[in-house]
Amino acid sequence: MSDLLIKDIDTVLTVDPDDTVLEDVSIVVQGNEIAEIGSASEIAEDYPETDFDEVVDGNDMLLMPGLVDSHFHLSEHLSRGLFPDNLATRPWVFNWAKPYYSSVDEEAEVWSVRMAILEMIKTGTTCFLDMGSQNNTELIVETAAETGMRGVTGRHAADVKPDTIPPYWSEEMVDHHFFDTADDALEALEESVEKWNNYADDRIRCWANIEGKEPCSPELHRGASELAEELGVGTTYHVSSSIEEVEGSEEKYGMWPIERLNEIDALGPNVVLAHAVAIKDREIEMLAEHDTKVAFCPGTTFKLAKGAANIGKYPEMLDAGITVSLGCDGNSAAGSADMHKQMWTVAGLFKDARMDPDMIPASKAIRMATIDGAEALLWDDEIGSVEVGKRADFIMFDTNEIEWTPHHRPIQTTVYSANSHNVKHSIIDGDVVMKDRDVLTMDEEEIKEQARIHAERTAEKSGLVDGAIPTTTTLYD
Ligand SMILES: [Zn+2]
Repeated sequence: MSDLLIKDIDTVLTVDPDDTVLEDVSIVVQGNEIAEIGSASEIAEDYPETDFDEVVDGNDMLLMPGLVDSHFHLSEHLSRGLFPDNLATRPWVFNWAKPYYSSVDEEAEVWSVRMAILEMIKTGTTCFLDMGSQNNTELIVETAAETGMRGVTGRHAADVKPDTIPPYWSEEMVDHHFFDTADDALEALEESVEKWNNYADDRIRCWANIEGKEPCSPELHRGASELAEELGVGTTYHVSSSIEEVEGSEEKYGMWPIERLNEIDALGPNVVLAHAVAIKDREIEMLAEHDTKVAFCPGTTFKLAKGAANIGKYPEMLDAGITVSLGCDGNSAAGSADMHKQMWTVAGLFKDARMDPDMIPASKAIRMATIDGAEALLWDDEIGSVEVGKRADFIMFDTNEIEWTPHHRPIQTTVYSANSHNVKHSIIDGDVVMKDRDVLTMDEEEIKEQARIHAERTAEKSGLVDGAIPTTTTLYD
């Protein structure tokens, strides 16, 4: 970390509480913190350029907070395009994703993490919430730390094995992922949080994450929230991720999954529910009451036919004051680590589905992709907006690109016109990690080469390439 001046920036989207847009400003970064934001001329007078270790020119640039991805699977990244695209959520998870994850060994996982983070940085993401490692939390933590990225990861655990183990679920995966009891799982989660939280000067955090839904007992859902609270971290898991899961819950327990979480006291402000696409009005009230966060993954609802446009109640959640953030999810679930796509989608999906132009404006889509994500990650005291005292996590769009030429309202242009490949520079924790689209912390060509090698090896090993895998499932019915 060094002192950095970003001078003569045309436009800054601060994403402060008033969505203030600044023009012709300079930003002084000392260490990893924003020390001053002021008019370009005043900063030029007060701070000689020679005082800085690095100066970045902000002419023809729009600077905004880095994007925060609040639901991701780093370990899934080498599976791009491997699964068919006619799978609903449950067969996707049980027949394809589990066998795939079974085959991700430590080496493949390291290259998967590098490849995913490379894509994130190149498309404007500066912070992620990852579901957790398939092998060893240490691998994810240390690999992510080396890239200069900010993020939260975890151990990932479950405790309810299906009655019969389906084909291609390897013994190693079952042993690593499924604990005999909730207490055993919680012990492993506690150990990983204690060991890895606040790593790399607190750039990498570790949470008590579980898989959620059918593979986790009520005790584990509640226990993860309690453990997270006790350790001062969060927990995240998948829930109400499809109408089939919800119908199964209704049939077995006489209530929907979020009603059930409420009943067992598992909801709380340190819980991020991924998807929550099939949800009742009464459940929205429960989430609001407990300040529980929701990570909406537009790309996944598109590919896995979850029905967000049809049955999703994200606008109602926002009206109820719930923090709804955005996530890219895993590469086989959605196909992309590009948060700009999620931001663009959420700004149009509900306008169209409800035939109501007042649904989720561009300004709110930007908040969902930045400050609301930071809030979900319990990190909004330090990131998510461009304000003095916060960590310096920015991206800078090149407004000389064709997508920006000409443009009027910068908030609209950022959401509806910009392309994530217009992100020219990225700064994370005060360090320039991408300059002129060159990621300085990573060897892009080597990562792509190794990712291809390990993607092929893992796919072969998984049995998914030529296997006759069913596209329906009755597991956990
Ligand atoms: Zn997921």
